[in-house]
Amino acid sequence: MKFKLPCEGVETPFYYYDMELLRSTLNEIKECIAGSDVHVHYAIKANGNPEILKVIADSGFGADCVSGGEIEAALAAGFSNDSIYYAGVGKTDREIIFGIESGIGCFNVESIEELKVISELGERCGKKVPVALRVNPNIDAHTHEYITTGLEENKFGIDMRCLDKAVDFATASDWIDLIGLHFHIGSQITITEPFALLCERINALTEYYRRRGVEFPVINVGGGLGIDYDNPDENPVPDFKNYFDTLISGISLTPGQHIHCELGRAVVAQCGSLITQVLYVKEGIGRKFLIVDAGMNDLMRPALYGAHHKIETVNAEEDACEEVYDVVGPVCESSDVFGKGEKLPAVRRGDLIALRSAGAYGESMASTYNMRKLPGSLFIG
Ligand code: PLP
Repeated sequence: MKFKLPCEGVETPFYYYDMELLRSTLNEIKECIAGSDVHVHYAIKANGNPEILKVIADSGFGADCVSGGEIEAALAAGFSNDSIYYAGVGKTDREIIFGIESGIGCFNVESIEELKVISELGERCGKKVPVALRVNPNIDAHTHEYITTGLEENKFGIDMRCLDKAVDFATASDWIDLIGLHFHIGSQITITEPFALLCERINALTEYYRRRGVEFPVINVGGGLGIDYDNPDENPVPDFKNYFDTLISGISLTPGQHIHCELGRAVVAQCGSLITQVLYVKEGIGRKFLIVDAGMNDLMRPALYGAHHKIETVNAEEDACEEVYDVVGPVCESSDVFGKGEKLPAVRRGDLIALRSAGAYGESMASTYNMRKLPGSLFIG
């Protein structure tokens, strides 16, 4: 990828956002769902940068939030109140009250205990609270164990065996408006089968409840569509058509029912790169270390999941010969490694390196560990 200057002169490390790519990704989604019963709620946890949120809100998408802070960010960015959905296994009373008073569109509820608390707090606020029940469908998403969420052993969602009890409680409460079912089976899913299986589970469940007189207007399938981390230039936009076609053809909707998706990574991952500067080229015993000024605090995915982001030079000399490096950060942890045995054009102190596909779960996971500054951001296009 050709990074447009002024990259030089901006303090590194920083996130470089290709806003043109973000807009064309959003347009592609809009084209795929035009005229269908699908609504997309962007999962703010993937990237809550206010500039990014504004563009997504302006495109007419809803927001999927997992904390009171994300609800505040969504409102500030211009997402309409009723397009904000709130999920998470550990919502505090303060966050629930804030959501109720803000008039958000739905609480995705993860346990019967939480349902009871929401009912009490709805009564206290004098407002009937729109709720979807998050179901744990026990589906293996065939992704990293830290980002698979729909298996029985995960902490997320209500086990299918307890769902009747939750539905009974919700329909009996004067303070709960049961509007939907919510699912999310995992993240970075690059095959169609888990989504197709999810559609089958959804159809079986909605049919089961329909026979008992309970209809769910909102069928929320969560997020999870993966991206191509190895080939960001060849595949800058995920195969949204296949994803939405799978859902639209797989889920049997009745009149008045809608599909809601909570895509995060697929929307923003490819538009972001972490730009970092080479501090030292250190000769080790049998290997060369490229020590860069970005660390695991700036981009946590490699240390957290063993994830790999494509590493490229930004401004190395065109005819430089290839060298093999271990690309590492300055943080005092052995896991502060971005890549081992990376083949790159020979670089020198001061050269810029790009860690690609870092727009999702990059800046939003950054911390000040080692009392380092948070990375900045640059928006191009
Ligand atoms: N919805 C829920 C409930 C989630 O937990 C997540 C991610 O963890 C998402 C949506 C977004 O997932 P993704 O970024 O894989 O699309």
